[in-house]
Formats: sequence, structure tokens, C-alpha cells
Amino acid sequence: MSFNIAIDGPSGVGKSTIAKKLARDLNFVYIDTGAMFRGLAVYFLENNLDIDDEIAICDAVEQARETIDYVDGEQHVFVNGVDVTDKLRTEAVSRAASVTSQYIPVRKKLLEMQREMAEIQDVIMDGRDIGTVVLPNAHLKIYMVARPEVQAQRRYDQLKESGKLADATFESILADIRERDYRDSHRENAPLRKADDAFEIDTSDFTIEEVLNKIKEHFERTRGESENA
Ligand code: C5P
Repeated sequence: MSFNIAIDGPSGVGKSTIAKKLARDLNFVYIDTGAMFRGLAVYFLENNLDIDDEIAICDAVEQARETIDYVDGEQHVFVNGVDVTDKLRTEAVSRAASVTSQYIPVRKKLLEMQREMAEIQDVIMDGRDIGTVVLPNAHLKIYMVARPEVQAQRRYDQLKESGKLADATFESILADIRERDYRDSHRENAPLRKADDAFEIDTSDFTIEEVLNKIKEHFERTRGESENA
């Protein structure tokens, strides 16, 4: 049976950085589910659809065939055979992913893929509803949080480093993050929330190494328990 680690939390708390490193150290496959919602969002935007028009989006999602593949160890997202990975990390796509991920057919389409991937291999999957909805029986669940100002600074640094800052300022990013996290945690379908059996880690004042070590301690203990069960 495969071993599954679920990492959830709001945007910019360090989930993907941590999950990627952890996957490399443990030799697990890293699955970034946010990128899957972003891939569909790119498709909606490129087809000039109104993301607030639920009916149009739910119709269009039927036409979008999404697949995931690994290129040099990095997850790539393909929509109808086209690699959209380079288009995933803009503020417009962040917002479109957050709006359209509220719609049931969008979530349903990705849920099956996510579960199948976790069934056949050891995975570390990060997102918003992994511990609560996608993999409720995950062996280890982590819920990461950070102060909003820290979230925004990390996002600002990421955008700057990748040359995608455009007109964004620290204040505009902070406002976007607050709006997105509010929408993600107040939606009806699979809202962002901590699973009852998840370990919560506030990453605001810790280095990446410190967070990794904390999770590895939980992993060693949980793996021991699951082997003895
Ligand atoms: O994690 P990331 O910021 O890339 O996710 C983009 C958006 O996709 C989130 O704001 C959220 O609305 C949606 N998402 C989701 N469920 C997941 C992962 C992401 O609804 N498991």
C-alpha cells in the first residue's frame, strides 16, 4: 500500500517549498494540486471565459483534458496536450484558480486524478482540502499557517525573483492573499480547513530546514505506527 502525506494551508505559507524538499529526501512523488487548478484557470482565461459565470466554466471544463507529467523531476501541467506550466504563476491565474475552484465540476474533475495518483505511489500532496476531502485516510497530515504579512512577503519575493512582479506591490499582494484565503476558506465545496487529525505548524518564524525537521519527526513516528498496526 502506498504511503500518503497531505499538506494543506493558505497561500504563501511555504507548502510547496517544503513539500518539494521533503519528497526529494523521502523519495516520494510530489503532487502540487494548486497547479492543477491553475492549469484549468489558464485554459479558461485563454478561451476568454468569464470566470464568474459558473455555467460557462462548468461547460468549458468538459473540454479541458488535463494531465500531469514529470520533466527533469519537476511537475508539468498539460491541458489538451499543451504544456502550460510556465503560465501558472501570475496574479490573474491565482485569482482565476481561486474563483473557479469553487465550482463542483471543476473540483470533481481533479479529485479523481488526485486520488488515483495517491493510490499507486507514495506521495506528498499539497493543497487546501487534501487532508479533509481528497485523502481523508492519509497517513500523515500537516496544516501549515503563517502571519499574512509573512505570506505576502514570500509571494512578493517569489514574483520578483521570477520576473513576474509586473505592477504588483507588497500591499496589493497582501490584499489579494487575504481575499483568496477568505474565499478558499468560506466556500461551500471543500473549503480550506485543518483536518482534526492534522499537525499544525506556524512557519512564520522558522527556517525551511526547521519546518522540514519538524515534519520528518512526525513522519518517522507515523511510519513506525503504521508499520506496527
Ligand atoms: O496552492 P495554489 O496557490 O497554487 O492554489 C491556487 C488555488 O487553487 C487556491 O487559491 C485554491 O482556490 C485552489 N485550490 C483548491 N484546492 C486545492 C489546491 C488549490 O481549491 N487542493
